[in-house]
Amino acid sequence: MSERIGYIGLGIMGRGMAHNLLKAGFALTVWNRTASKADDLVAAGAQVASSPRELAAQADIIISCVSDTPDVQAVLLGEDGVIHGAKSGSLVIDMSTISPQATRDIAAALAERQIAMLDAPVSGGSEGAAKGTLSIMIGGAADDVARALPALQAMGKTITHVGENGAGQTVKLANQILVVVNMLAVSEALLFAQASGVDLEKTLSAVTGGAAGSWMLANRGPQVLKRDWRPGFTIDLQQKDLRLVLEAADQVGAPALGSAMAFNYYRVLQQAGLGHEGNHALIKAFERLAGFEVGKAE
Ligand code: NAP
Repeated sequence: MSERIGYIGLGIMGRGMAHNLLKAGFALTVWNRTASKADDLVAAGAQVASSPRELAAQADIIISCVSDTPDVQAVLLGEDGVIHGAKSGSLVIDMSTISPQATRDIAAALAERQIAMLDAPVSGGSEGAAKGTLSIMIGGAADDVARALPALQAMGKTITHVGENGAGQTVKLANQILVVVNMLAVSEALLFAQASGVDLEKTLSAVTGGAAGSWMLANRGPQVLKRDWRPGFTIDLQQKDLRLVLEAADQVGAPALGSAMAFNYYRVLQQAGLGHEGNHALIKAFERLAGFEVGKAE
């Protein structure tokens, strides 16, 4: 019989992942701070718990996907947290994007109660969460990864065990450096093309399949040309990830100039009240410097 799963955090990402666990046949208990967000999962067959502690008592594997480091600390180690309800021998899988160092500290606290932990942050956006095609990068012990695999395969397609606890979060932060520095390049290139008077649609068609192609260019480039700022990933969450990058880079002594630049550009946009827009709205900070805009709204 497959293990019973408890899922904490039914936001943009968590709800899709939880639905996919149900579809794969897992017995599922869910908890969300805003209780109403569990309604459709309950209608689809999930049980609901009244706290992370109660959820943990009912599950063998406990998954969390909440916003930031303090939020993971609250649901796992807080007063009514998982640590107070989980049976010895349980496995916690944290799929949020948080600090690698805090992850190692949380894993150590759980280990004192014989609760194992994996950090398993994801990439692939809300689309990937809904379709079960996420990339999942995992830190932790190999036998725990093997135990988690059936559940992870219900949520993701590219599943990579990258090292010990914290390593999954470190690789996720490397992923975020690639995303934002890519978006810096997309912004600079589109402004240059616009100022030079070439057709922007043709520019995108010409370069997307070549050596400069990327997921951000292919997916967010066309959105920029339409001035469609709806988020796959918000500026506020992107800013949170860049803060984590800069903190972690400082701890290991790595320069992170592109990330620092993007962090400050996103800060300008947050101050302008645009934190809810998509991370591709980064180009608006460049436009303010340039004094002109690219593309046009439909
Ligand atoms: P979201 O839609 O804003 O959902 C956040 C979830 O965390 C909600 O369920 C929220 O509960 C819960 N939460 C926040 N603080 C909490 C606290 N202190 N106690 C209990 N619950 C709390 O965010 P999301 O897009 O799903 O992102 C979740 C995580 O996945 C983040 O770490 C994000 O960086 C990462 N991620 C997101 C994407 C993406 O494309 N969206 C991609 C990869 C990774 P309420 O409903 O009560 O607010």
